[in-house]
Amino acid sequence: MEMVKINDDVYAYINEPGTWFRGNSGFINGKRMGMVIDSLATREMTDKYIKEISKISNVPVRIVVNTHAHGDHAWTNYMFENAINIAQANYLEAINDQTEKLYLKYFPELDFSTSKYSVPDITVTHGISLYIDEKEIKVMHLPNAHTTCDLIAYIPDDKIVFTGDILFSRPCTPFAMTGSIRGNIMALEFLKSLRASVYVPGHGPISYKTDNIDAAIKYLKFVQSSAMKIFNSGENFIEASKSIDLGEYKSWLNPERIIGNLARAYMEINNNETMINEDQIIEAMMDYKNNFDNK
Ligand SMILES: [Zn+2]
Repeated sequence: MEMVKINDDVYAYINEPGTWFRGNSGFINGKRMGMVIDSLATREMTDKYIKEISKISNVPVRIVVNTHAHGDHAWTNYMFENAINIAQANYLEAINDQTEKLYLKYFPELDFSTSKYSVPDITVTHGISLYIDEKEIKVMHLPNAHTTCDLIAYIPDDKIVFTGDILFSRPCTPFAMTGSIRGNIMALEFLKSLRASVYVPGHGPISYKTDNIDAAIKYLKFVQSSAMKIFNSGENFIEASKSIDLGEYKSWLNPERIIGNLARAYMEINNNETMINEDQIIEAMMDYKNNFDNK
């Protein structure tokens, strides 16, 4: 994990790519207060992060913005004790969903005993502008993309965007199982239209161009066309999804996400009329991961 200085007061804390539950975070330093964009999955990770922040700032973190409700971006909000926590309105529904717990058994190396959600202090529907000194941070909701409660933090003056998991930069594989493949593509197009100089993704290295956005769009379109093939073949979804040839995406990290992504794309083909059981998808995805890892 590495604290990357983007400019005098904007930092990105970049986690090791390619393992589940290891997200990136952002830190903005001000004269009176600091702001954090996303907490991390476990107490151990966040302890280290808070130490890193204290090396560059002596003011308290007063604002935590969550880019979405996944645990690796939200489970340790409570450790920023003096902060007001801001999230999108749909976040409340998402944190009551127990599905994420199904993953935990697959990662015994991580200690989730102190990982927990807290209820946000403020929820926003479309967005809000926050200021750290004179610096405006536009917090904007992009509907139905990686999840249903995505927020990005855009700093227009600095041309920096914290994208949350709307963007996974290479070599990380995008993941929109709990959102929308179609919506994620639209959200990525929107990110491009901001013409920023720096895109800090939810996972993977910082992107200084739009090539990672293009690559993610291309991958998600591949997911859509593959899902269409399965749909048209009439085969059992789980079985057919395991045998999709990943082609150029085989070398990206967490290739197993293809299963979750295909499931979402498949459901979107007929406007969610065919629902696939989420527990089954997660199990199939982790099976795929184990088979892939052992190859
Ligand atoms: Zn996520």
